[in-house]
Amino acid sequence: ANTLTFGLIPADGIGREVIPAARQVLEALPSQYQVKFNFVHCDAGFEHFQKTGTALPQETIETLRNDCDGALFGAVSSPSHKVAGYSSPIVALRKHLDLYANVRPVVAQQSKTASGQPVDMLIIRENTECLYIKKETQTKAEDGSAVAIAERRITEHASRRAGEMAFQMALNRHSVREKRSPGQRMWKGLPKVTIVHKSNVLSITDGLWRETIRHVYDTNATYRKNVLLEEQLVDSMVYRMFREPEVFDVVVAPNLYGDILSDGAAALVGSLGLVPSANVGDTFVMGEPVHGSAPDIMGQQKANPVAAIRSAALLLENIGFPAPALAIYTAVDDVLAEGLVTPDLGGKATTQEVTDAICKQLS
Ligand code: NAD
Ligand code: MN
Repeated sequence: ANTLTFGLIPADGIGREVIPAARQVLEALPSQYQVKFNFVHCDAGFEHFQKTGTALPQETIETLRNDCDGALFGAVSSPSHKVAGYSSPIVALRKHLDLYANVRPVVAQQSKTASGQPVDMLIIRENTECLYIKKETQTKAEDGSAVAIAERRITEHASRRAGEMAFQMALNRHSVREKRSPGQRMWKGLPKVTIVHKSNVLSITDGLWRETIRHVYDTNATYRKNVLLEEQLVDSMVYRMFREPEVFDVVVAPNLYGDILSDGAAALVGSLGLVPSANVGDTFVMGEPVHGSAPDIMGQQKANPVAAIRSAALLLENIGFPAPALAIYTAVDDVLAEGLVTPDLGGKATTQEVTDAICKQLS
């Protein structure tokens, strides 16, 4: 059997409830899948910052880089106001480990979606630049009133990497999806990639993003033959995603648009507590639920562990273990179909009850 070492970074709030749940599910994988796990706890987060003055210890970066085959991150409670010396550890981790794409599958059967339409999208969010470089300054206008300015960086390099990943995933993901639970919609036509941008207004930045991804496509015969390429302005993208989510397959977006679109897509499938993600680079993958630290429900056994559990499966899938990943996806789908769900989905089950049911379904 393969032994995989995973770094666990629960960080803040319900991260401390859903990461142990994901760990329990990984440990429940039957031996037929030939994977075993070592888990290494790693510190990070706002609470760690308040205790020690650092949100992301160097030791966490070193441990992940040198000792781990992958990682699972929970969530951080980043304050909305500026706190001296603090900056978000998840944004820093993505940068340190060069996890340049955040891959967010949003999947639900017809009957489970808000719109009554099935959803089966893969949102690929560029993870390293755009407005999230956090180059913000505040100055004063001539009349003395405050002016805040943010820099938005788009590079050919990052756009090309995001585009390549979108086309590769469009080609590959169908093999795992075809084996998923029956009843789930499957993309019928050619794989499709939709570029999201706003280059009608931001012609230089979003223009570079769009042109670069189009160029990746135009210069690759395999992509041209096997993948359809479309584009959508980000505002009408939101509209169409709510009206007709079934028309989208792989969607590739700059960092900020991708962040907003994927939280919105989570509403389509009923809860943020269902949607997983993986931060993917060329040499490392870190699973991470899309939701935040949810301070409003922490410590009450109300957190939906499914997003974190699916993130563990997505991690396995992206480091070359599709079979145990598929087993976890299927066990989760089965438990959801039984109606054993947490309060965010209208149920009464606790975090632990849902986790136990998924483990039982796996074995
Ligand atoms: P949030 O995702 O934490 O919560 C939004 C709403 O969804 C809340 O009502 C919450 O109870 C609910 N929710 C989220 N996850 C759930 C789950 N697993 N089960 C059941 N319900 C769930 O977003 P927010 O309230 O905007 O932010 C709270 C904190 O999280 C902030 O400090 C923010 O900075 C941080 N945050 C962190 C990340 C991250 O770590 N990547 C992402 C988003 C927000
Ligand atoms: Mn978000």
